[in-house]
Amino acid sequence: MKTVKDYNFSGQKALVRVDFNVPLDAGYNVTDDTRMRAALPTINKILNDGGAVILMSHLGRPKDGPAEKYSLKHVLAHLSKLLNKPVAFAADCIGDVAKNAANALKSGEVLLLENLRFHKEEEKGDVNFAKQLSELGTFYVNDAFGTAHRAHASTAIIAQFFPNNKCFGYVMSGELESVNKVLTSAEKPFTAIMGGAKVSDKILILQQLINKADNIIIGGGMAFTFVKAQGGNIGKSLVEEDKLDTALAILKDAKAKGVNIYIPVDAVIADNFANDANKQTVDIKAIPDGWMGLDIGPETEKTYADVIANSKTILWNGPMGVFEMSSFEHGTKSVAEAIVAATKKGAYSLIGGGDSVAAVNKYNFANEVSYVSTGGGALLEYIESGSLPGVEAVEK
Ligand code: AMP
Repeated sequence: MKTVKDYNFSGQKALVRVDFNVPLDAGYNVTDDTRMRAALPTINKILNDGGAVILMSHLGRPKDGPAEKYSLKHVLAHLSKLLNKPVAFAADCIGDVAKNAANALKSGEVLLLENLRFHKEEEKGDVNFAKQLSELGTFYVNDAFGTAHRAHASTAIIAQFFPNNKCFGYVMSGELESVNKVLTSAEKPFTAIMGGAKVSDKILILQQLINKADNIIIGGGMAFTFVKAQGGNIGKSLVEEDKLDTALAILKDAKAKGVNIYIPVDAVIADNFANDANKQTVDIKAIPDGWMGLDIGPETEKTYADVIANSKTILWNGPMGVFEMSSFEHGTKSVAEAIVAATKKGAYSLIGGGDSVAAVNKYNFANEVSYVSTGGGALLEYIESGSLPGVEAVEK
């Protein structure tokens, strides 16, 4: 894997695809700059070598061309503060505006291009648009893991115009090293913890993990499809009726391959989907009519904590319950605590996928696990298919 570490950027104009898709408030202030801060080491490496940096990103999902709301000019001041230097801005990512700004750029300087998605060609992966972008720089760096599962012009197609001068940035290489460590060289026992709302979102990943993990722990709303498939009464809990057979097939496959698959045995149930609903803890196979399971119960927590404590590699995606509500966060928090404890004892823990990352941040555990992935969809797709368009394009 070639990364910015392997090159000297002196005299180069590096076109760096970053993920500056950050949340903005009503006054267009950046409310969470995690993704911007993540890109700083790559940008600074190029600048310190004596190169110039041209940043390309998308912001939001503009539908019909330019829209004030999605302009990257809103992040300019914050970026300049983070880099501690002025940053130039091109009000379009192609055409004369972009060309002139790129031509004027000197070594040690930074230019930010306007939102790539103001041109529909970006998401279409248009080759001509990618070529126009490529002409702005002399080197291509992909550091946007969060969009690496899309074959867009700036994330994949553009790479063909840099046959010998392309590489990954530090965000990308960190993510890839982490997920590869789990998928290809996991120290055993390897435990995958899967939660979240739906089985349908996780079928492919479960099928892959059955070939790699020693233990698969299931929680969250998706658990009830497994419970029902095995004949349990789940009241009005979340269920995907059309996935009952799939759930049984996954259990059968796991058994055939000697993988221990853990389904919750008890649940915290509520009479309504609300934090102040009446609640009780019951056997997960005997949920009364009119009640729904919103968290795993204490017996399940204990079993899961034991399995996690005995693991050397841990992958966690998806909460164990409706952790956004304090009444139903206990199971998710206890799994997070068990992962932190196992990590302290030497296990490698990778947390990925939007809501488990949100949970880890909620409990301030981000620095106490081995790696927190920034790319939810990209991480899951990498595990499912073993590669990503944005990764393949750079490695070609
Ligand atoms: P996902 O995006 O698939 O990882 O799902 C995350 C969402 O699943 C979170 O918003 C949780 O509140 C929700 N969730 C977790 N457990 C349950 C449950 N038992 N019933 C309903 N929703 C749940």
